[in-house]
Parts: sequence; structure tokens; C-alpha cells
Amino acid sequence: MNPDVASASSPGTDKWVPYRHPQPKESPPELVIPNAIPTDERIWVPVEQNVWFRPLLMCTSRGYWMNLLRVRKSGILSRHRHPLPVHGFVLKGEWRYLEHDWVATEGAYVYEAPGETHTLVVDSHVEEMITLFQVNGAMIYVDPDGNSTGYDDVFTRIGKCREHYRINGLGEEYIDQFIR
Ligand code: FE
Repeated sequence: MNPDVASASSPGTDKWVPYRHPQPKESPPELVIPNAIPTDERIWVPVEQNVWFRPLLMCTSRGYWMNLLRVRKSGILSRHRHPLPVHGFVLKGEWRYLEHDWVATEGAYVYEAPGETHTLVVDSHVEEMITLFQVNGAMIYVDPDGNSTGYDDVFTRIGKCREHYRINGLGEEYIDQFIR
């Protein structure tokens, strides 16, 4: 055997050779967002007072969304229940849930289990917090007794983005690049 062929196919020598075949045609295109924490303020979509989100991946085919949540001091993300798990990574600042005794600080990873109902607050000593969240399924807004008062899912969130981007001039189609 040609020694070059032998060495090229032996383990360890082809690590830098790219995969030679096309990706599956059913696989959606990858998504890379260079400035995930945007400097263009228009990209942040207001949710309620002192609370905004920045869409990253709106996964309509699997029913979840990836977003940055930004809350400035004394902001509250209204009480809600999660039927499916949530994963979070704190990029800046800190926050807590009224229902727990821990504080999520910069650099922390947070897992919230299905069935969890909570209220996210940013206290007055924190100028700003930014957290990456994967939210699966839905957020079901509830009163203190758990009676539902509304919901968000990936589709309502896309709707809020469209409305916000339409009004602020980015254009309602701006959200389309984040949908898979
Ligand atoms: Fe939550």
C-alpha cells in the first residue's frame, strides 16, 4: 500500500480533514449571531416595565426559544408556570425568584424543572442583569394561587417581535432570520 494513503487513513492523522459530505437536506441552516448582546437598542423587545428580551433562536419546529433576558433594577418578570424545563446562564448582574432563597449571580447556570412556578425579580441594587435562557414549551402566567391569566410560547414571542420591529423600523421580517 502507498504509505501516504496508509498514514492518511490511520487514526489521528485525519483530524483536520473536514467532513466530505453534504449535511442532511432536512437539517435546517445553522445560525450564528456575532453580536448576541446587541448594541442596537431596537433589537431588545420590551415585555413589561424594565424587562426586555433579545431573540436568538425561535424554534417553531420544536416549540422552544433561546433568548437573552434583560431586566433593570426593580424589574419583575411576572409570575409564571413552566410545563417544560428551563435552562439559564447568567451573563451579567444577578436576579432571584420570589419562590426560592438563592440568588443567581454572574456566571451561574440555572435549571428549572417542569412544574415550576416562579417570579423573577431584579433588586434595586442591581443596575442590569442579562441571562441566556432556553425556554421550552410555554410560560403560563398565573395569579398567586396558580390560576392562569395568560401565556407566552414561541409563537406569541415571535408575534411580539414582529410588532416591535414593525413599529421601530427594523421591519417585521427582522425576526425571520432567527426562526428554525
Ligand atoms: Fe421562568
